[in-house]
Amino acid sequence: MNKLGSQHVVIVGGGLIGLSATYALLREGHRVTIIERDKLGSGAATGNAGELTPQQVAPLASPHTARDVTVGVFTRSSYLSIAPLKLPQLAGFGLGFLRASSQKRSAHGAAALAQFAHGIFPALDRMTADGIDTSGGSEGYLMTCSDEGELLAAHEKYRRRARKGWGEEPEPILRGSALRAAEPTVAPGIRAGFMLPAERSLDPVTFVASLIRHVTAAGAEVHTGMTALRLGKGASIVCENASGAEVSVSGDRVIVAAGAWTTPILKRSGVRSTSIVSGKGYSYTVPVERMPQTLVHSIDRHCVVIPMHDRLRVVGMMEFDGRPDRFNADQIDVLTRAASGLITGADWQHRTDEWVGARPMTADGMPLLGAIPNRPEVLVAAGHNMHGLSLGPVTGEVLADLVAGREPAVDGKPLNLRPFVIKR
Ligand SMILES: Cc1cc2nc3c(=O)[nH]c(=O)nc-3n(C[C@H](O)[C@H](O)[C@H](O)COP(=O)(O)OP(=O)(O)OC[C@H]3O[C@@H](n4cnc5c(N)ncnc54)[C@H](O)[C@@H]3O)c2cc1C
Repeated sequence: MNKLGSQHVVIVGGGLIGLSATYALLREGHRVTIIERDKLGSGAATGNAGELTPQQVAPLASPHTARDVTVGVFTRSSYLSIAPLKLPQLAGFGLGFLRASSQKRSAHGAAALAQFAHGIFPALDRMTADGIDTSGGSEGYLMTCSDEGELLAAHEKYRRRARKGWGEEPEPILRGSALRAAEPTVAPGIRAGFMLPAERSLDPVTFVASLIRHVTAAGAEVHTGMTALRLGKGASIVCENASGAEVSVSGDRVIVAAGAWTTPILKRSGVRSTSIVSGKGYSYTVPVERMPQTLVHSIDRHCVVIPMHDRLRVVGMMEFDGRPDRFNADQIDVLTRAASGLITGADWQHRTDEWVGARPMTADGMPLLGAIPNRPEVLVAAGHNMHGLSLGPVTGEVLADLVAGREPAVDGKPLNLRPFVIKR
């Protein structure tokens, strides 16, 4: 393996992480081959909420969300939906999630992920400076919640994070006319909220398209319609091509970045790892009389409305049914019921661009990032949960450090990779 100088890196998966890694590696003069089963920018890459959010990069598991798990199994109307028939397959993940939900473990998880907080915007800004289109969103989120206690708790949580340097201070709580002045489209039932002023958003459709153009122009070799099956010997990956034949692609390094589809590849390769399961989310575009001024994120309704260029995207749901590619129309109805109580003036009947995407979820909320034990030539970068857009550009830079044999760093500070080991 050529440790110094230029290397040939084979990347499995051309989604947010694979494309961001390709960008960072090409920038450093490496050669990159992408293996993608569908087309570049598939999976969860483009239909997501476009949130770039140092403040919210934390594990889903917490004492609060552990309660939602029970509701998710027994009702069909919650943002969290767990298919009862899939419970045996999800048992390991569920137990891990409940374990990670304790106060102590969720605080550890938040601290581990916060190592990336300072790197999110600088890494993205380097992409912007290189001509990648990061437009279409805005700065500042309006966070709302109907439950006063929950709203105050969220406000306090973000204040504590800001004091630790993990994001900007939230603005004071807004009520009544002050809230409506900040965002005239919020529904009458929404009585209070606060701004997270420094969080950003972008339009992932134009971002991903631009990233694809950039890496293709910079010389990435792309094999679409090629499904990675398992790791081969050394730095190689055995794939099935469009005609159903098995082919092997090799380089100096392999990076497995297949999002919610990563675990089967590792299992077939005999690699024991923390499981990544799919937590599906849904989105669509809705016509509005008046575009909200800002991204509105409802803490209790578990949905977000995001102005993206000239359209409004509605995003939410977390569905565990073991079928990452399956679209369930009833989830769109549940999402619409939640979102229709959040803003006014939307024509909910005339939705377009209905979409499902699989979030690559790990029980403890940590991505798998680093080399496979005893196989330094194979890296895994998957399991970014709800944060693969926020963390994509900075993850790409960390992977470039690892490929070059440098100590991984974020914004100049050493990154402790231990929380992200492949098997934990
Ligand atoms: C509704 C929703 C809203 C979200 N909102 C946000 C947000 O606002 N901010 C944020 O930071 N994150 C958000 N996310 C999460 C984010 O989209 C994911 O974390 C991110 O897409 C993960 O990137 P990835 O590259 O690991 O996976 P993906 O982007 O899903 O890409 C995986 C790629 O691998 C390919 N692939 C799969 N199997 C194989 C195989 N065997 N061989 C070859 N290729 C394969 C797939 O086709 C796909 O192109 C959201 C997700 C959803 C679903």
